[in-house]
Amino acid sequence: MSDPAALARFIDAHPRLFVLTGAGCSTGSGIPDYRDLDGGWKRRPPVTLQAFVADAKTRSRYWARSLVGWRRFGRARPNGTHAALARLEADGRVEVLLTQNVDGLHQAAGSDNVIDLHGRLDTVRCLACEVRTPRGVFQRALEALNPDWLALDALDAPDGDADLEGLDFASFRVPDCEACGGLLKPDVVFFGENVPRERVERAEAHLAAADAMLVVGSSLMVFSGYRFARAAAHAGKPIAAVNLGRTRADDILSLKIESDCAATLESALLPLSRLRERVG
Ligand SMILES: [Zn+2]
Repeated sequence: MSDPAALARFIDAHPRLFVLTGAGCSTGSGIPDYRDLDGGWKRRPPVTLQAFVADAKTRSRYWARSLVGWRRFGRARPNGTHAALARLEADGRVEVLLTQNVDGLHQAAGSDNVIDLHGRLDTVRCLACEVRTPRGVFQRALEALNPDWLALDALDAPDGDADLEGLDFASFRVPDCEACGGLLKPDVVFFGENVPRERVERAEAHLAAADAMLVVGSSLMVFSGYRFARAAAHAGKPIAAVNLGRTRADDILSLKIESDCAATLESALLPLSRLRERVG
């Protein structure tokens, strides 16, 4: 049996899927990921919440790199993986789609029932008064304050970051909250930061209502995602994963497919839709 056929059988046997997605879904949209095939870091780990809050220069460096990185990140479009998962939801097979990605591409592809586990990069939040600003508005404020930085370009890094190095980041100006003067931060969960409890509980309730778990494009190396695989296994729910390379949950998977996410999902969903046409 080919891998997509095994996945088709898995999906057909479990009508309510708890879908968990990661960076591997978005690499096909031009957004790089952090992990190599072994689940190790490809690059320097991202900035921590502690460093971001404690040090103005760290914030300047973060936003200067983000000024450059956002220009392409903000324009990224969904790919075949996002489209296939949106179709799965339209077919009524998705209990919820929990994503570790912060790019909003599942929603852009038409998925409605999405929990953004790590938040969204297209929103900026004030750490003091919680006011939220669209990232596009904040981008224009950054550009207006830092005209000398507009000509710079660098290779894209994960999460809307760009590999800008060796510059005097202290000279980069970052606006504070217009309402209260507080520190502004992208509305994403940083490394070293906890996922809001309410969000975890909402996802756990969906997992309890699901028949099985489908992991797409995640190595599950980050505990905030891995915990759901552990919980699924604990509850006796089977887990299938489509991912290029190792996952932290390899020992508890019922089905593992190590190949391209978009191609695998597209071939797996094809027989299901043919079946539906025959039944309909
Ligand atoms: Zn504020």
